[in-house]
Amino acid sequence: VCQMYCEGLYQNNERVGTVFVHRDITKEFKVDEMKSEFVSTVSHELRTPLASILGFSELLLNRELKPEKQKKYLMTILNEAKRLTSLINDFLDVQRMESGKQTYEKKYIELLPIIEKVIDNQQVQTDVHRIILESFDGNDLILGDSSKIEQVFTNLISNAIKYSPSGGPVYLRLYEENSLLHIEVEDHGLGIPENAAADIFNKFYRVDNSDRRRIGGTGLGLSIVQEIVRAHDGYVSFKSKYGEGSTFIVSIPGVYKPSHGLDENIHQSGT
Ligand code: ADP
Repeated sequence: VCQMYCEGLYQNNERVGTVFVHRDITKEFKVDEMKSEFVSTVSHELRTPLASILGFSELLLNRELKPEKQKKYLMTILNEAKRLTSLINDFLDVQRMESGKQTYEKKYIELLPIIEKVIDNQQVQTDVHRIILESFDGNDLILGDSSKIEQVFTNLISNAIKYSPSGGPVYLRLYEENSLLHIEVEDHGLGIPENAAADIFNKFYRVDNSDRRRIGGTGLGLSIVQEIVRAHDGYVSFKSKYGEGSTFIVSIPGVYKPSHGLDENIHQSGT
């Protein structure tokens, strides 16, 4: 994209020529395009849960309903409000990460209980998908920020569920290899098309294939996962076959408990 304009060139108030300016504004144009796409994504993503909160609240207020129905509607309102909260947290996280203001409160933490907690939370929200954790009894200690690590697995497991619309199981596996702890999240859902593989960790990037056009999202989940894992000196990778499923793998350095100084917090700002 280029911008062109011309200006007269004067010397002693006399026009002596014309300057043509030719400026490449592709970058500015792309940023503008991304911004307006972001605003429309955000509005859409916020409006959908809000609409159901408003709708179900009105139903509860204006109708005589059986207690089971009331409970069902209240559960929907609660879940949609939770969704709104997590969306807003995502937007705030991305902003903090971009400005380098994200902070991490690192401690010695065990991965397994965090993963189990995320599985329980996610399982409550789906009765169609089974989330199966394969057993592990090795060292699962890392130096990490537990709420951020929880967010990593929440994002990966909720994606595995969201992109398995026909309801397949989600498998989780933890293993240690070369002093790294690897956690796999495997689904048998839509998979990732090859031409999208290079972009899926980019902020706001969403695959726009017809098989997932009706599935909501902001394109922020995986970029947040990558940012957090990198801040823990790890990396995230994936393998996928389009139409067959995907496996995301988080690899983080494992540590062993020192004999003292266990409760010491280690603060580290974002990368
Ligand atoms: P969002 O889910 O909000 O679109 P993400 O950053 O979490 O954003 O994911 C980016 C894109 O990667 C998604 O739009 C989706 O098409 C694809 N994707 C992520 N996880 C999976 C998965 N488990 N299976 C298939 N596609 C996935």
